[in-house]
This record gives sequence, C-alpha cells and structure tokens, in this order.
Amino acid sequence: MSRVYNFSAGPAVLPEEVLQEAADEMMDYRGCGMSVMEMSHRSKVYDNIIKEAEQDLRDLMKIPDNYKVLFLQGGASQQFAAVPMNLMKNRKAGYIVTGQWAKKAYQEAKLYGEAIELASSADKTFSYIPDCSDLDIPEDLDYVYICENNTIYGTKYQTLPNTKGKLLVADVSSCFLSEPVDVTKYGVIYGGVQKNIGPAGVVIVIIREDLITDDVLPGTPTMLKYKTQADNDSLYNTPPCYGIYICGKVFKWLKKMGGLEVMKQRNIEKAKILYDFLDESKLFHGTVRKEDRSLMNVPFVTGNDELDAKFVKEAKEAGFENLKGHRSVGGMRASIYNAMPKEGVEKLVAFMKKFEEENA
Ligand SMILES: *Cc1c(COP(=O)(O)O)cnc(C)c1O
Repeated sequence: MSRVYNFSAGPAVLPEEVLQEAADEMMDYRGCGMSVMEMSHRSKVYDNIIKEAEQDLRDLMKIPDNYKVLFLQGGASQQFAAVPMNLMKNRKAGYIVTGQWAKKAYQEAKLYGEAIELASSADKTFSYIPDCSDLDIPEDLDYVYICENNTIYGTKYQTLPNTKGKLLVADVSSCFLSEPVDVTKYGVIYGGVQKNIGPAGVVIVIIREDLITDDVLPGTPTMLKYKTQADNDSLYNTPPCYGIYICGKVFKWLKKMGGLEVMKQRNIEKAKILYDFLDESKLFHGTVRKEDRSLMNVPFVTGNDELDAKFVKEAKEAGFENLKGHRSVGGMRASIYNAMPKEGVEKLVAFMKKFEEENA
C-alpha cells in the first residue's frame, strides 16, 4: 500500500486509523454479518451509530442542550437555500461576502428576499477579512451570514462579526472541528463534512431550538424545513448512513487525540511551518493578509504561472497531491486539515525549499 500526502481542499484527507477501521468492519460490522452500507437506517444497530455520532460531536464542541444537531444531505450548497427559507421571517438578511462560497450563499438568498451585502473583500480578491466590528446593521435583519473560513482564498475570521444582537449564521465547512468554538454565539452553524470530517454526502447543521419552527417561507420543501429533520432526529427519510458512520469514527478519533483544544494547537503548529517558510522564501509567497490567515487552507504563488504549473507537476511526482489552486484563482493551495500529519507539511516545505534552489 502506498499513500500520498493529499493536500486536496475537499473531499480531503481522512485519518488513516479511521479508514483502516472502516476497512476492517466493511464485510461484517461487529458481528451483524453485513456492512453498515447494507443495513436499515431504522435498525437498532444503526440507531446506535447515529446517536453515538451525535453525542460525540456534542462532547467535542460542547454543544448546549438547546441546540439540535442534524445530519443532512445536499451539501453545504443546499443550505444556501435552506437558511433563508427557514430564517427569513422579515425577508431581509445581511451577508458578509468574503469569497466565492459567501457570494454564492448571498446570491441564493436573493431568490427568497432582500439580501444585503454588509461588507465585502472583493476589492482585493478576497485576500482579507473586512473589519466587522461596527457594521451598519438594519433593525429588521433576520440574520447576519458569514463563511467563517474561506476555503478558496485561505482567510478566516479571527473574531466573529459584531452582529449587534442579530442572529449569526455561519458556514464552517472548511474549519469544522479545527478548533474549539463557542456555539452559543451562533444561531446556526453548518458545514459539509467532506473538508475536515468525513466523506462527501453529509452536511451537519447545528441550530438553536427556538429557530426550528413551522414559520418558514411559503413553498419551502418539506425536506428543507429544519423542523421536519429535527422532529425526526435526521431520520425523516434515509440519511447518508455510511457517511454519518465515518463521521462518527472521526469524532472518536478527535476525542482520542485530545479534543479540539489539542487539535487547535496542532493546527497552529502545522500551519506555522508553512507560513514561516512562505514569509522567508524568495520564490514562494502567501496571498493573504497575515492577520487573516486560515489554519486550514494555505494559498501561495511564485508569481509566474509557468513556474506554478511546474511546481504542481513536480510535487505530484514526488507524492504531494492536489496542490493546484482553485480553478478561479490559480497558483497553489495546500489544504492542511486535521488529518494531515505534521510530517506531511514538513516534507512539503522541504520539497518547496529544494524546488526554490533548483529554480533560483
Ligand atoms: C466546499 C464548500 C462549500 C460547498 O460544499 P458542497 O458540499 O459541495 O455544497 C460551501 N462552503 C464552503 C466554505 C466550502 O468550503
């Protein structure tokens, strides 16, 4: 078996221990005589799997009792519609546009009501997080929406925006479980799991209970109503069973690693190796304002498209996969999620040093 260092932005690297465990249980899940893929989502065995996954997530994030945890399908992108459909009581919401995912959510919200751009970093190709300490927030806004970690551009909010008492909704797809969060600061936290938690096909929504009501926009599909999903403990219809099972294993792995405070320290340490090199390199440089750097997604360039392409190609040959930047921005991007070992980042930096010498 030979595994590469996979720097993909998503679907992304998973802990080897988790993959191995899943492999061991593939044909016969703990004496059931069948795979988790093959069992009824209404069975006792599966009920344990999903309940334990939820409990482990609650433990990791210290999710208060007045928040529901939903395991849904449709990806993060479906939440771009579900959020306004469920929460736009006044049909007015504020969006902070810090990249493509925030922009897509903002545009989707316009289908359902008045979406206001409260701030944007489009003027400098989303290379920073705007100052959100004193935004002009209309009295009748239903919520303020952010994309907390910008997967494509590599920025992250270091402090949450001052919403002036309005509900905060956050897409945390690419920073989910990368560090501790204070759940009580949010009305809704959601994310696709394929970045930092599990296989594509699951989106996790953590939502304050009082926001789960029948008072949704007319025409909201039954499946997109949070109440439908909450009333049925994510089992209104067949959930993404196997994906949830893998997420559960990753939660257990995170607990074993020591929890989110430990992961945060590891992630800081890992990212520092790469950022320190980018800061001193004469060939490579980071593209993001230093204060706003993401611990998860690290974009960088040489400033020369041909050299970038050469780097990506040679890196791949050396066992460093998926370093090409997003198709919309070019350059390179190393996604260094929880499951990327420190050694992977160290080896990448060593490879970058060598490339720099050879191409000076
Ligand atoms: C990847 C990503 C999305 C899109 O996720 P899908 O599950 O493909 O819809 C949305 N938001 C962020 C921050 C992402 O990183």
